[in-house]
Amino acid sequence: MIRIGIGRDIHRLVEGRRFLLAGIELPAEKGELGHSDGDVLAHAVTDALLGAAALGDIGEFFPPGDPRFKDADSMDLLRRAAESVKRAGWELINIDCVVICEKPAILPHRDRIREALAGALGLDPEAVFVKGKTAEGLGPAGEGLAVEAETVCLLGKKEDPY
Ligand code: MG
Repeated sequence: MIRIGIGRDIHRLVEGRRFLLAGIELPAEKGELGHSDGDVLAHAVTDALLGAAALGDIGEFFPPGDPRFKDADSMDLLRRAAESVKRAGWELINIDCVVICEKPAILPHRDRIREALAGALGLDPEAVFVKGKTAEGLGPAGEGLAVEAETVCLLGKKEDPY
């Protein structure tokens, strides 16, 4: 049996914060505002995994007002969500991601980001892809006010042929 999942997130960009994608800090003038560390890509991947397994969503697992998650390492939250998915009997097959922002450019950092996600999820980096897009000046991402991430993932149950 296979299941697909989708995750989407957006974070406001402000001065004085780090710009993190899957725990990798990119050189940038602004970074993601958030109760946690604001890692938009880690959040989108977490939601894709939890949704594919029908376990819940990131806000249920790690409530944003909860002081335990203030400045939380979002890659740690992703690892915990992935553990829950594995405990439910699912194997992660692949993930594909899009990050949308005007700056910074994602491509020079893409393979490090892929390796960070692969390491956290126990996947071969070949099973993880990340694409950077600009928004052509349109909307909050295009105006440089926000960064967005979209992710899909595929899960399989080992005991069933797929
Ligand atoms: Mg978020």
